Amino acid sequence: MSQRTLAIIKPDAVERKLAGRIIQRIEDEGFTIRAMRRVHLTEQQAGGFYAVHRERPFFASLTQFMSSGPAIVLVLEAEDAIKKWRTLMGATNPANADAGTLRKEFAESIERNATHGSDAPETAAFEIGYFFPGVDLI
Ligand code: ADP
Ligand code: MG
Repeated sequence: MSQRTLAIIKPDAVERKLAGRIIQRIEDEGFTIRAMRRVHLTEQQAGGFYAVHRERPFFASLTQFMSSGPAIVLVLEAEDAIKKWRTLMGATNPANADAGTLRKEFAESIERNATHGSDAPETAAFEIGYFFPGVDLI
């Protein structure tokens, strides 16, 4: 069944001008881009997005990083999009990411790891709504 997921090209990748190459990979892998927007989050907005991680030791550093510069947020659609996008991204820590994945190729560290992807249908619904009001999802 066709499914949607939220992807983010994180500030580290936007700063290094990797957005074009990542978007090319997204299209090459057969996703349809249903929405796309450039954002520069405040630390508070990054904290709202990553609220599930607020008790983690890396939370403050993560929200600083995610608000450190512009990011590009996208809604991707495909069969089994959530799993498909996480597979294309690779493991959170690039040291553990498979060859050919975006994080293996582009991530600098476990924190500055180039991309984000929703991990379940419930989180995809929350994360898509965080950036795109329903009216923009055509
Ligand atoms: P994923 O992005 O693969 O779903 P998580 O949801 O566990 O990973 O973590 C969210 C983000 O927090 C990661 O993508 C990464 O930027 C950062 N992060 C996760 N674990 C660590 C860690 N141990 N140290 C620093 N940053 C981390
Ligand atoms: Mg996650």
